[in-house]
Amino acid sequence: MTHRIEKTPFWWEAAKPQGKKGELPFGPIDVLVIGAGYTGLSAARTLAGRGLDVLIIDREVPGYGASSRNGGMVGNLLKPGLSGLISAYGEEKGIAIAKEAVHSVAFLKKLIETEDIDCDFALNGRLYPAVLKKHFVSMAAESEKRSRYLGADEEILEGKAYQEDLGSELYVGGIRQYETGGLHPAKYLQGLVGAVEKAGAHLIAPCEAKAFQKVKDGFDIQTTDGSVRARHVLFATNGYGGTANTFLQRRIMPIGSTMIATEPLGENRIKALFPSGRMIADSRKMLSYYRPSPDGQRVLLGGRPTILPASPEEQARSLQKRLCEIFPELRQTAVSHVWSGNVAYGFDALPTIGRHEGVYYALGYCGSGVAMSGYLGHKAALQILAEPEGVTAFDDLPFPDRPYYHGRPWFVPLAMIGYAIRDRFGF
Ligand SMILES: Cc1cc2nc3c(=O)[nH]c(=O)nc-3n(C[C@H](O)[C@H](O)[C@H](O)COP(=O)(O)OP(=O)(O)OC[C@H]3O[C@@H](n4cnc5c(N)ncnc54)[C@H](O)[C@@H]3O)c2cc1C
Repeated sequence: MTHRIEKTPFWWEAAKPQGKKGELPFGPIDVLVIGAGYTGLSAARTLAGRGLDVLIIDREVPGYGASSRNGGMVGNLLKPGLSGLISAYGEEKGIAIAKEAVHSVAFLKKLIETEDIDCDFALNGRLYPAVLKKHFVSMAAESEKRSRYLGADEEILEGKAYQEDLGSELYVGGIRQYETGGLHPAKYLQGLVGAVEKAGAHLIAPCEAKAFQKVKDGFDIQTTDGSVRARHVLFATNGYGGTANTFLQRRIMPIGSTMIATEPLGENRIKALFPSGRMIADSRKMLSYYRPSPDGQRVLLGGRPTILPASPEEQARSLQKRLCEIFPELRQTAVSHVWSGNVAYGFDALPTIGRHEGVYYALGYCGSGVAMSGYLGHKAALQILAEPEGVTAFDDLPFPDRPYYHGRPWFVPLAMIGYAIRDRFGF
């Protein structure tokens, strides 16, 4: 019998993002926020909370982008790693950047508590299992460094000690983190929408920003619903930016990531696979990230399933194969949902906040933005308000473009082939 697979995020079953009808304001406003994911909503919450007249728009529905599609894994590491940050920016700046990523989790926790958002948030930690001994050695060295410089609470798990967290034979060791965890991404999004409206911001979606011009005292922004005049504009468009801002389009690469959910397996089977309930992200270049669903019934797994574009069914098959490599006992298990979204990479593989020709932006979380995006959205709001707390270690980082890149990352499949070869042959 062929099993029917839903092509929408599993998360939408509990919290489907909803459109917001509204009229564009007639007169000028203080701030237009473009993009109603975690970044834009967090910024709008802070700005409206300080009494500013704020409009936030989204091309689709609030959260249509990565914010209602992600794995809900709350992490505190940045792609370059602590060693990479120190070698690129020097010891002081590198450590300051890494510390803020750690702090973004505390920021998220406080936001969820303050707004009383019911989103299955739990800081039950994460396991990074290593596929190869070589990966384990370098992960252990990084973990020691994080403990030394950042005071991180982590454990290096030799051999099969990781099996306290994970019922799989695939790995050779791992790193256990305690200060991270997970949430239900679409419920968190829904809670943020409520918080923004409570703070007094207006939200219109669908409404797309098409272009903008600098005018006296601010900007004129053309949208699909008409024009808006705003003193300030914030782009919070991450991997969904398109052509409205060509400066960002030349610097941010949208890259697809896909997830599957299994059919319900029952609490006992899930407990055997994830005894501690920790989130998991493995050590491959083409990594797999996976977790139990918050209701403890299913496995959710994500990654880049195929090098070239493929149908949802093919992507589901490819991710299901990976799932069975990790948990061979799931060979007969059906996939219930498959869905994809865009993550956003800058060429330095770091989140970016800044201002170009008067226009603010915060984006580029490289697939690890559940905690960072709300944090940098808040920082961008404080920068618009010219408050001293808006200062961040992410200020003034280079935000390079490349002569060969104009918004279509044609070279990504080539990089993926390189990664796949490295994963397969272990170099
Ligand atoms: C499949 C997947 C799994 C992931 N898993 C994790 C994870 O487990 N942990 C983690 O930390 N991170 C994860 N991420 C990354 C994380 O989801 C993102 O970093 C985060 O959601 C970014 O939020 P954002 O608000 O910046 O962007 P988004 O949520 O992508 O929002 C951008 C919004 O801008 C809107 N927009 C764009 N252009 C315009 C325009 N011109 N006019 C109006 N609106 C516009 C879009 O419609 C979109 O809704 C994952 C991402 C994906 C795709």
